[in-house]
Amino acid sequence: MTAPVDAAALAQLIVERVAVGVFTVDERCTLVQFNRFMEQHSGVAASAVLGRNLFECFPELPRRWLEQKIRGVFVLQNFAFSSWRQRPYLFAFAHNRPVTGSVDRMQQDVTFVPVKGPDGAVIAVCVTITDATDACLSERASEQASAKLREALAEVEKLSVRDGLTGILNRRALDIRMRDEFARFRRYGSPLSLAMLDVDHFKRVNDTHGHLGGDEVLRRVSALVAAEIRDVDILGRYGGEELAMVLPAVDARGAAVVSERVRRVIEATPIAFMDATITVTVSIGVTEARPATTDVNGLIAEADEALYACKRGGRNRVHAFGADPN
Ligand code: GH3
Ligand code: MG
Ligand code: MG
Repeated sequence: MTAPVDAAALAQLIVERVAVGVFTVDERCTLVQFNRFMEQHSGVAASAVLGRNLFECFPELPRRWLEQKIRGVFVLQNFAFSSWRQRPYLFAFAHNRPVTGSVDRMQQDVTFVPVKGPDGAVIAVCVTITDATDACLSERASEQASAKLREALAEVEKLSVRDGLTGILNRRALDIRMRDEFARFRRYGSPLSLAMLDVDHFKRVNDTHGHLGGDEVLRRVSALVAAEIRDVDILGRYGGEELAMVLPAVDARGAAVVSERVRRVIEATPIAFMDATITVTVSIGVTEARPATTDVNGLIAEADEALYACKRGGRNRVHAFGADPN
């Protein structure tokens, strides 16, 4: 014959053994229960705190908040809860996970349960502390993973549209943007200009300063052009040392003005490379889309023709397609 199980003793055993912190306070915040989980994580024995005031035993607790929480349960006779998301922890317990840098304390979900006497009035509040560190860590990890993914996607996006040397749009992206802008011109008839820029005697730069010197010139020239145009304008690397400026809502006259400004800035800006100073000039051919312009290629051909007129005319100049070369 086995002896009958004492329900109260069993309940006491469970409270002691459960992997949740449990402590109970009366209306004056005197501790009347403090389970093993609490002993182990606080390093304080139940015998040292029972019968004493909670805040005297643990002065580091957030007193104002906790008193209000406990008083609320007495007054409203209702259960209360606090998530680790609102307040990461009540007791500053260590957690046993590997050091992660971001979470240094056991994250805690806390419940406040009213304990009622025979007449139904609340006589004590039982507080439970559940370790929510794993939930917190996995949430942080997935947040970090998605931030990394976003960064990687942005990098891929950048690599796919930017020229590796100059950082301006690459040929592929430039072609797409030119097509888009030409389609817009076709649909709405708002002005659209194209300016083709070619560095004068660039072979000499390479011959004199080496290809690294030439590369530096391309980077600086691209940056100088980018600084002279508006945000809505499109700048891309068309080929070796040829850049294209696509200027929406700008006619050929306006494009020539912008191009002349670009030409002057480049002419006036010496480029430092190693111990040398390199000064280059550029030629820029401009044209404007007209109703007769068949497609983007037609526009490019006209800008090219204007560019060659610059070269024939002696370089370091801006020329508009169809204008008198003199
Ligand atoms: P012009 O005034 O008639 O334009 O003379 P140019 O010397 O600039 O003539 P051309 O257009 O034939 O020469 C372009 C040179 O640009 C040839 C090529 O080796 C060089 N080049 C093309 N891409 C790059 C690059 O990415 N880096 C460097 N350093 N040089 C490049
Ligand atoms: Mg050239
Ligand atoms: Mg060229």
